[in-house]
This record gives sequence, structure tokens and C-alpha cells, in this order.
Amino acid sequence: MEIKTLGVVGAGQMGSGIAQVAAASGLSVLMSDISDEFVERGFSSIEGSLNRMVKKEKITDDDLKAILGKIEGSTSIDDMAKADFVVEAATEDEALKLEIFGNLEQYCREGVILASNTSSISITKIASATKRPERVIGMHFMNPVPLMKLVEVIRGLATSDETFRTTNDLALKLGKTPVPSRDFPGFIANRILMPMINEAIYALFEGVGTAEDIDQIMKLGMNHPMGPLALADLIGLDTCLAIMEVLHSGLGDDKYRPCPLLKKYVEAGWLGRKAGRGFYSYT
Ligand code: NAD
Repeated sequence: MEIKTLGVVGAGQMGSGIAQVAAASGLSVLMSDISDEFVERGFSSIEGSLNRMVKKEKITDDDLKAILGKIEGSTSIDDMAKADFVVEAATEDEALKLEIFGNLEQYCREGVILASNTSSISITKIASATKRPERVIGMHFMNPVPLMKLVEVIRGLATSDETFRTTNDLALKLGKTPVPSRDFPGFIANRILMPMINEAIYALFEGVGTAEDIDQIMKLGMNHPMGPLALADLIGLDTCLAIMEVLHSGLGDDKYRPCPLLKKYVEAGWLGRKAGRGFYSYT
């Protein structure tokens, strides 16, 4: 099936980024969320990102208008009936994703591939909510989507070769580099990244250093472009906690226990950049 319209479920930082790169590569995009307010927020984040590209003269004003014109907003999942391929990028919560995939199964045409941008949740489990597990796959984009090249592609137990090929081809069409990973908690990216971030939070919690010093040491000492605490703020502390919980329960090893300070920040609603406050303040 030729992919002309991409459905994106969830218009948060990842969903809006995926919608933007898909529209920029010429696809029509249907971007959905649970309320008009969230869909609007998705559109303003895309507009902000495109405006920065205009300022840097990477695209023109006309390109900006054309890209925005390719994206349609929606608040009802039954609109996904129009999509030729769907990427789900809603909140990192297993029960929520199972519900969304159950609904996608109902509304999406037969043959349509249903991909999840989950950071850590089992693709095999998500596929079990559908009657087409051979057409369910993980398509894990990196944040910020317009800038980051990698797409981690994760096959569930039943994912077919054809689904894998089509997903790789789509990633290439979006200008990304697909790299495969097997379906284990956190896959490859977050199996390695998130325990490092969690350890940085422990270092802060135990007073080993200030947030600034921890980040500075990792930037200058390890040549990381961003410190782990600033990166946690960018990812979203709710997402970081959800991923650590999947690693902890899925791998059953206490070395993956989420730091109590991370839990406290999430309880306080200090979710990082998207909330204006996390380990740093964004006012
Ligand atoms: P976010 O909090 O910015 O956005 C999540 C969006 O999902 C919100 O707008 C929310 O309203 C929406 N949503 C919730 N329930 C929904 C439903 N039933 N239908 C449609 N939309 C719904 O989160 P995010 O950072 O964009 O993360 C989204 C997904 O991408 C998660 O699975 C996350 O693990 C994954 N991811 C995140 C990052 C990152 O750095 N933040 C990187 C890679 C993958």
C-alpha cells in the first residue's frame, strides 16, 4: 500500500515532531490528540520549530506554509480510518497504549501498519491489543524529531518481514536512519541511556554535586552535547520515570529502581521543559 497519509496519535513533543517531518517530506498528516487545546499546542510547537528554520534560512516562508498546510488536526481516533500508516506517540503508559491500539484496530483499514513510538513498552504486548500483530511495530524516534537522525525499529514477536521493510522505507523517506533493536524493555536506546540519567539523579539526590556540576562534568568529561539532567528535562521527567519503571519491572533487577527524587519531581508536576520546571527552571 502506498503511504500518502500518515496518522499520528498524540500531538505532544514527539507526535508534533513526527507530524512536522512527515509533512516536510511531502506526506499528508492527520495529527490527533484528546482535546482541541492539545492539538493546538501541537500546531504551535510545529510552527515555532519551522519559524526557527526560516530564521536560519533552511526553509522559506512559503515552505513553512506548505508544510503546515499538509497537517490536519483531529480529536477523534476514528479519523485514523483515512491513514495509510499510523504512528502512535501518546503518553508512555501501557494501559493507555493498549486502549489506543484496540481502537486503531477497529478504525484503521485492513493492511494498515500500526507503529508505536514507545520508549520502552513491549511491542509484542501492544500488538496483542490488535488482530493484526504482524502489522504492529516499534518506530522509536528521538527528541527533537526534526533534528535527530535515528529511528530505532523494533519488531514484536509476530511482526512480519514486510512490515519491517515498509517501516524502514518510511523512516528513510522521512530522512532518518533506521536501526533495528529487539523487543526487550527499553530496547537499546533507553536500556543504556535511562539508567545513566537515573544515576545522575541519584548523584544529585545524594549531594554528590549540583545539577550544574553534574551536567558540566558529563559534557566536558564525556563529550556529551547535553548533561543528563538537562536531557531528562528535555525528555520529560514523567516519561523518564515511566521508562525506569518498565526497566525495573521488566528486567527484575534493582539496579533499575527509579531514584526517589525523580518520583518526587513527577509528583510535584515538575516534569521538565514542558512544565516550565524540572531540574532547571524554564521561564
Ligand atoms: P508528551 O507528554 O509531550 O505528549 C503526549 C501526548 O499524548 C499529550 O499531548 C497527550 O494529551 C496525548 N495523549 C494522551 N492520551 C491520548 C489519547 N488517548 N489519544 C491521543 N493522544 C493522547 O509526551 P512525548 O514526549 O511526546 O512522548 C510521547 C511518546 O513518545 C511516549 O510513548 C514516549 O515514551 C515516546 N518518546 C518520548 C521521547 C522524549 O524524549 N520525550 C523520545 C522518544 C519517544
